[in-house]
Amino acid sequence: MRPFNFDTIYIDEASRDSDVAHRIQAAFPSDKIQWVDSQFMNDHKGPLSKDQFEWSKRNVLVTPFKGHFFKRCPGASQKTALTCCNYYVLNLGSQCNLNCSYCYLQSYLNTAIMKIYSNIDMAKAELLDMMKSFPKYPYRVGTGEIIDSLSMDELTLYSRQLIPLFKEFPHWTLEFKTKSDRVDQFLDLGPVENVHVSWSINPPVIIDSEEHGTARFEQRLTAARKIVNAGFKLAFHIDPIIYHEGWKENYAFLVDEIVRNFSPTDLKVISLGTLRFQPEQRLMMRERFGMNSLVNQAEMFTSDSGKMRYDWHLRTEMFQFVLNRFKNNNPAWNIFLCMETPETWATTLNKSPMKVDGLENLFRPLPKVKSETSESATAR
Ligand code: SF4
Repeated sequence: MRPFNFDTIYIDEASRDSDVAHRIQAAFPSDKIQWVDSQFMNDHKGPLSKDQFEWSKRNVLVTPFKGHFFKRCPGASQKTALTCCNYYVLNLGSQCNLNCSYCYLQSYLNTAIMKIYSNIDMAKAELLDMMKSFPKYPYRVGTGEIIDSLSMDELTLYSRQLIPLFKEFPHWTLEFKTKSDRVDQFLDLGPVENVHVSWSINPPVIIDSEEHGTARFEQRLTAARKIVNAGFKLAFHIDPIIYHEGWKENYAFLVDEIVRNFSPTDLKVISLGTLRFQPEQRLMMRERFGMNSLVNQAEMFTSDSGKMRYDWHLRTEMFQFVLNRFKNNNPAWNIFLCMETPETWATTLNKSPMKVDGLENLFRPLPKVKSETSESATAR
C-alpha cells in the first residue's frame, strides 16, 4: 500500500470489529491511531475556518453510518431545473483527502473531519435489496458523490466488495469517480463490463494550480489505460471546465491527449461541465485558495438553479469548442453535458438528451429508491 498523509486516524469504538479498522491497525503505527466514542466531533456547527477545513482533510474518523447509503443524485432535485441523468449514489464516507479549489463539498458538507464508514455490509444489503427488486433496470450507481471513490480505497478495499455484486447484475452499472491513480488493488477482478472507472480531468495547468494532492495529468492517463487493459469501462469527466487565459489551447491539448491515448470504444462516455458553485462558496474559496486561484478570477452569474455559473454564451462556447474537437476527430465519441439546463443542451447539441443516440437510457425515469421518500436532496 502506498503511504497516506493522515495526521491521525480516529476509530469509533463501534467500528472496532470492522475489517477496515483491522486493516488500519495493521498498516499504521499505533501512535497514529486514537480510539474515540460515537460522539467524537459531533458538536461542530457553522462553516469551517481555513485552519479547520485543512485539518478536516488531514484527519479521518472511521465510524458506522446511520442513514440510507443508497440514494438518488442531488441533480435530480425538482428545484434545480437541471437535466438529470438517472444517477444514484452510494456514499461510503464523506469529505475527501484531496483538495480542489472549486470542490463543491466546501459548501455542501459541514463535517469537521473526513469519515470512512465502517458498516459496508449495510450498504451492500441496501444495494442488494434494490438489485433483487429491479434486476433488469439500468441503474447507474456512483460512490464518488461526497468522497473520492478511490483515493482511500487501498485502505478500505471497498471496491473489492462492490465489484463482485455488480458482476451478478449486469444491467446495473457501478461508477468509481476519482482524481487519484489508486487502481491496482482491484485490477485482478476484471474484466467486468458494467464497472466503470471515471476520471475528472482537466488540462495540466489546471490540475497543477487547482487540484491539490491529486494524481497529475499523466498519472491519471496511465491509471486509465490500466483500467481499459483490465477489462473495465472508462469514462472521463471534463469537469469543471475553467475559463482562463489560453483556455482554448489548453483544452485542445487535453482533448488531443485523450484521442491520442484512447478510442471511442474504450470510453463509455465523456461528460462535460463548466465551473459552478453555490454563492456561499465564493468567500470560502477566496479565503482558502487566495485570489490567484483561477476559480476566483472569472466573472460568475447566478443561474436559475441558484448556483454561480459563467455566462450562458461562454458556457455554450466552451462546450461547443470541446465537443467539436472530439467530433472532428471521430463522430463516435459519446459526449453529454452534466448538470446543465435543457437550454444549453439544445444550443450545444441541437437536441435534448433523450434524443441523443446512446444516451436515452441515462435519462429514462426509473423506480424510486426507498431514501427518496424519506429524504430530500440538496442541489449539487
Ligand atoms: S477530488 Fe473531488 S471530492 Fe476531492 S477535493 Fe477534489 S473535487 Fe472535491
